[in-house]
Amino acid sequence: MDNSAAVPARTAGSVGAAADRAAMTTHGRDPEPDRTSLPERRSADAPPASAWQRVVCVVLGMCVEHVAALRSRLAACLALRCCDGSLRETRRWARAHRVPWDPLEGGLRALGARCDCEALEVVERE
Ligand SMILES: [Zn+2]
Repeated sequence: MDNSAAVPARTAGSVGAAADRAAMTTHGRDPEPDRTSLPERRSADAPPASAWQRVVCVVLGMCVEHVAALRSRLAACLALRCCDGSLRETRRWARAHRVPWDPLEGGLRALGARCDCEALEVVERE
C-alpha cells in the first residue's frame, strides 16, 4: 500500500477574487426576455413538441410557444362561434402578436388550412 501522496494540495481561493469584482462591474445589463404576453399556463402542462408540432413550427415560421398560443386562441374563438370560412381570427391573432402574416398564411395553406377551424386542426394535431 502506497497512498501517502494521493491527497491533492488545495490551492488558495484568493485568485478568483479580483476576477469576481471585475465581473460584477459589467453586470449592469439585465437580459430579461419579454415573454409575459404569452399564455404560460397552456404550454406548462403541454407535452413536449412532437415531430408534427416541430414541422408546424418550421412551416409556419413560429416558435412552439406561438403555436400553442394560436391554438388556445382559435379553440376559444371557435368554441364561441362557428368558423366563417376565413382565417379571420388567425389573422387577428397574428397582428396582435406581431407575427408576419404572409409566411403564416402561406404555411397554413401549404398544410391544407384555408380557414380558422382548419388552422386549429393543423395546430392541434399531435
Ligand atoms: Zn372553417
